[in-house]
Amino acid sequence: MSTEPTTIRWEQDDTGVVTLVLDDPDQSANTMNQAFRDSLAAVTDRLEAEKDSIRGVIVTSAKKTFFAGGDLRDLIRVTPETAQDLFDGGMAIKRNLRRIETLGKPVVAALNGAALGGGYEIALACHHRVALDAPGSKIGCPEVTLGLLPGGGGVVRTVRMLGITDALLKVLLQGTQYNPRRAQENGLVDEVADSREDMLAKARAFIDAHPESAQPWDRPGYRIPGGTPSHPKFAANLPAFPANLRKQTNGAPYPAPRNIMAAAVEGSQVDFETAQVIEARYFVELAAGQTSKNMIQAFFFDLQAVNSGANRPKGVEPGKVAKVAVLGAGMMGAGIAYSCARAGIDVVLKDVSLESALKGKAYSEKLCAKAVAKGRTSQEKAAALLARITPTAEAADLAGCDAVIEAVFEDTSLKHKVFQEIEHVVAPDALLCSNTSTLPITALAEGVERQGDFIGLHFFSPVDRMPLVEIIKGERTGDEALARAFDLVRQIGKTPIVVNDSRGFFTSRVIGHFINEGVAMVGEGIEPASVEQAAAQAGYPAKVLSLMDELTLTLPRKIREETKRAVEEAGGTWAAHPAEALIDRMVDEFGRPGRSGGAGFYEYGEDGRRAGLWPGLREHFTKPGYEIPFADMQERMLFSEALDTVRLLEEGVLTSVADANIGSIFGIGFPGWTGGVLQYINGYDGGVPGFVARARELADRYGERFTPPALLVEKADNGEVFTDGR
Ligand code: NAD
Repeated sequence: MSTEPTTIRWEQDDTGVVTLVLDDPDQSANTMNQAFRDSLAAVTDRLEAEKDSIRGVIVTSAKKTFFAGGDLRDLIRVTPETAQDLFDGGMAIKRNLRRIETLGKPVVAALNGAALGGGYEIALACHHRVALDAPGSKIGCPEVTLGLLPGGGGVVRTVRMLGITDALLKVLLQGTQYNPRRAQENGLVDEVADSREDMLAKARAFIDAHPESAQPWDRPGYRIPGGTPSHPKFAANLPAFPANLRKQTNGAPYPAPRNIMAAAVEGSQVDFETAQVIEARYFVELAAGQTSKNMIQAFFFDLQAVNSGANRPKGVEPGKVAKVAVLGAGMMGAGIAYSCARAGIDVVLKDVSLESALKGKAYSEKLCAKAVAKGRTSQEKAAALLARITPTAEAADLAGCDAVIEAVFEDTSLKHKVFQEIEHVVAPDALLCSNTSTLPITALAEGVERQGDFIGLHFFSPVDRMPLVEIIKGERTGDEALARAFDLVRQIGKTPIVVNDSRGFFTSRVIGHFINEGVAMVGEGIEPASVEQAAAQAGYPAKVLSLMDELTLTLPRKIREETKRAVEEAGGTWAAHPAEALIDRMVDEFGRPGRSGGAGFYEYGEDGRRAGLWPGLREHFTKPGYEIPFADMQERMLFSEALDTVRLLEEGVLTSVADANIGSIFGIGFPGWTGGVLQYINGYDGGVPGFVARARELADRYGERFTPPALLVEKADNGEVFTDGR
């Protein structure tokens, strides 16, 4: 029987070793598409039919990666109505992998590149796993990060290979992607090879040494390592599982960890075949649900669109920055200098005095020392990174810089002044960027001669860890500058979103609504601890009042006053937010300006650590017995951000749905389960019309700020969703 042309090539040598080469002729990577399913079925039939002439099997791939996993384009379309098809298709793959696993011949996975998700599940069905130590090669089950679980036997087999606890903690619940050496240390692969030849030699050596291989779980007397819940010793640990789960999700609606845990624990108490069915049921439930669709949309499709430059002007040659000037070595400047140097860019770090500039460089020294101590980098690499940062107080040292990133205090005239000092010192066509978090870029650009080369580059704190940069195009910013800024952000390994100029741009303006809403609820008389709890359970990484303390209460006040002035100067009227009165009292009456001032919504110990909510909040603001539904508390925060994002689309500040979704999750902590701030609207119960109806309800109860904007109503009326149409 012929299996050509297929996505799995059959190569047999004269010693009886069959190499199955995964090589989809129509795609750059192998995925679990229909062609693969058909090929797998055909190859399995042939292996069984020709078993007597086969000594062993090697599974490898002709692509750069071993296997890319499930086809997310298919998965995102699964509905409750088509769920049965997904179940049946998944079970068919599982049955075929099981037939290969129980062939009675040794089967070795030779992982020539990344084996994630479905790819690693194929490897798990083999008796032995050899991974090539190729650069960028990753191994693991990241399904949880897309709201899914490994539905190709990954839960069943990792539990049987590693035991329930290790399978959950090392593989399934975090979705960790290991490099080959770390994968070996953690028991995910058996051997690591240095070259392709070495990998295949190791695979053959295994076949030679194990002529009648079987999985441990198919041998007599096998027991799951570490026991199962039916053993008293293990049962004692069981109550810790839900507690861990709560810790991981903070009570936010992430169904995948719960299903993974259930599939692992329930599947451990039954035979292998039943466990496969249990796994498939839990998988299909996730795939048909809304959260996985939200997460696939954001973390796969939107992220890909954003990073691949869907918003980068076409026709501008890709560029690289060799030497960057960072102006201001404070918190942000120091972090930006580190991130640039880490990416191999030379940095001149300028502050008002050499002492301040050195202090900024000391931040990189601290991060490097930590990375070396944790084994994340070598002494040599750390030393080279530090050697790339030159601290200075002299403008003359900026000669030859091909980009400038300004991060001095948030003050327009100061920013104008520092650009004037250096504009003619740096390279004549240097890109001129400001890291302002709120000031309109068009006005800042008036401080330089080459306004077309001026652009906003808004980093987030802490810069070394935050993945997002918001690029702000001023009215006079040219396409070339935009493309170069985009390339610079990619060069330092961050994700760029692009927005048009406006006060607060996208991120600072929208996060302000979240904070104001939390504060307003305290002002209404709701228990402050409940407000914090509502933010956590909605899935926000930082509780709302603690975040306000971090940012300080004085900063939003200053921004508010400036914005109010600008609105009134333009002839508009300022719509006061109910949070404003409370913030003013906190600062003026109670002297509590936030964490840096040692007192805010929280109290702080001598060491600066948070020491509980300030009891005065309850005394002055809480109305005993006053409560609103918990869902209202959560949705007031989520809706306030989503509604303002729609207004930003109306105003033309935002021009891309993907940018809004990614920017909201990566920049300002909008909960990941939603798929981002606009996907939250698309995926809301009842779709966009359901969202509009709920916004109207919130407007009736809590104020006009929840009234749905015209664009939103129009989408609902036309049966449309927010999409870039890609
Ligand atoms: P910071 O106070 O920590 O640092 C400002 C630095 O600028 C200080 O070291 C100061 O000495 C230096 N400076 C002042 N005048 C200078 C001059 N003439 N020449 C050179 N250096 C000078 O402030 P920061 O938090 O790092 O913020 C800097 C900028 O980044 C602001 O525009 C801010 O709005 C923006 N930003 C801040 C955050 C944040 O989370 N803190 C986030 C994004 C953007």
